[in-house]
Amino acid sequence: MAEKLFKNISLEDEKILSTLSEIGVFIFNYATGEILSSKIWKDMPDNFQVERENTNFLDYIHKDDRNRIKNALADIDGGRVSEFHEIFRVQNRNGSYKWVHSFGRTVNCTEDEKPLLFIGLDFDISDLKETEEKLRISIEQEKKKAEELETIRQIVSQIGSSLDMEETVNTTLKEIRRIIPYQTGSIQLLQGDYLSIIGAEGFENNKDICKLQFKYPVSDSLSTKALQDKKPIRSDDISQDFPSFTHPHFTKIIYSWMGIPLISHGEVIGLLALDGYEKNQFSCHHMELAEIIADHISIALENAMLHEKAYKMAMEDALTGIGNRHRFKMEGRLLFETAIRSETTISIAMLDIDHFKVVNDRFGHDKGDLVLKEIARICSREIRLIDLVARYGGEEFVLVLPGTGAPEAFTAVDRLRRIIEKSSHPEIQQTVTISGGIYSGVPVQNEKISKFLANADIALYKAKNSGRNKVCTFSE
Ligand code: GH3
Ligand code: MG
Ligand code: MG
Repeated sequence: MAEKLFKNISLEDEKILSTLSEIGVFIFNYATGEILSSKIWKDMPDNFQVERENTNFLDYIHKDDRNRIKNALADIDGGRVSEFHEIFRVQNRNGSYKWVHSFGRTVNCTEDEKPLLFIGLDFDISDLKETEEKLRISIEQEKKKAEELETIRQIVSQIGSSLDMEETVNTTLKEIRRIIPYQTGSIQLLQGDYLSIIGAEGFENNKDICKLQFKYPVSDSLSTKALQDKKPIRSDDISQDFPSFTHPHFTKIIYSWMGIPLISHGEVIGLLALDGYEKNQFSCHHMELAEIIADHISIALENAMLHEKAYKMAMEDALTGIGNRHRFKMEGRLLFETAIRSETTISIAMLDIDHFKVVNDRFGHDKGDLVLKEIARICSREIRLIDLVARYGGEEFVLVLPGTGAPEAFTAVDRLRRIIEKSSHPEIQQTVTISGGIYSGVPVQNEKISKFLANADIALYKAKNSGRNKVCTFSE
């Protein structure tokens, strides 16, 4: 065989050929049909045939490369091209693939350009490919990490941008979706013996879910465990790990669950809970991301709670717990402006306790305070949810009754007067009465609530002057 291939070489031909093969050379002798295959075809599955003709070698080329190689070889065989330059995968004995970089050229051909001799070189570039793949993966991972960091940065700045608790929790839950693939999720706040859902996302009825409360602590609960251990918990199949898990909605079954305690100044204040409908939906990495975000949620909740507390304190009367004059100014004005815009009636009532000085003088200021508290309690209990009651000053209260005309306002305030008259005050063992003055009307553009208030006061004065324990409506 060697003699026919290399007529002028008189060395030990077999040795030359095997060396050529070893270094990757392959030769097709079209004239004789002989073939020298390179070493990359040595580690082949047992049923591999070496012959160029009638060969099944194409079967051992990766199916994604096979047609391309078949066509390139057909072009060489047919004399349409004289160069071959391809990268493809060849199956190893163990079923894995090696990457081969192969190139060669027709050395000799007939007059009508049909090849007679073709010489080529195969390189095993598997190591190179593996490095390339590793590099590609690590570049992709870096890119993903950078994107994730940017997303976290955005989420965190979002979380810190509002002091409104409801807004904070709901936008946060929406944003988390960008980096953690969850279906339903909630933020829960620890309030005494209960974990109350204060934000929900992904449920059919997020608003209703926000009304749910779970008893805390309870044995055999993952949420309780996460909060008590102050450590996040993840379950890849909750039906196995925790069969008694409470499914907050009835249409879908939760398989994956992640609960991250919200911790502020070392104290647990709540829980971030994320659910998935598939098993194994969350990875360790997802949990790490959730933990980073949970830290910021805790800070935001803490700030929102402080703000809410400060807001409440600024608006609340310290003695009676009802709104103070400041609250009346803020919220009363809003109700008044709504009445202007919607051109509806609104009533303002001023209430003043009768002869309260006498109560103080006779029973002392402390007992007087208790009476004040009780009357404030009755007022806030008896008004509608849309009404506003505030302590306007010492023993004076102001009521704002939106959508209420003079006759209805009179009925409501007089009813209140009668309830107070009948209520008992054990600390002084004496009845206490109030007088009330009402002004009602449809406020027009640029009209001020102070005018309504002044007229209600005039009506109150009338009530006082006509015997007290009485309600009067303003009349010109
Ligand atoms: P009337 O309104 O019927 O004309 O008589 P009155 O004695 O209630 O008179 P006025 O409304 O002017 O009385 C205000 C009194 O309310 C003065 C004060 O003793 C009492 N008072 C005001 N603020 C407080 C308070 O915070 N606690 C207590 N215990 N008493 C208060
Ligand atoms: Mg008074
Ligand atoms: Mg009084």
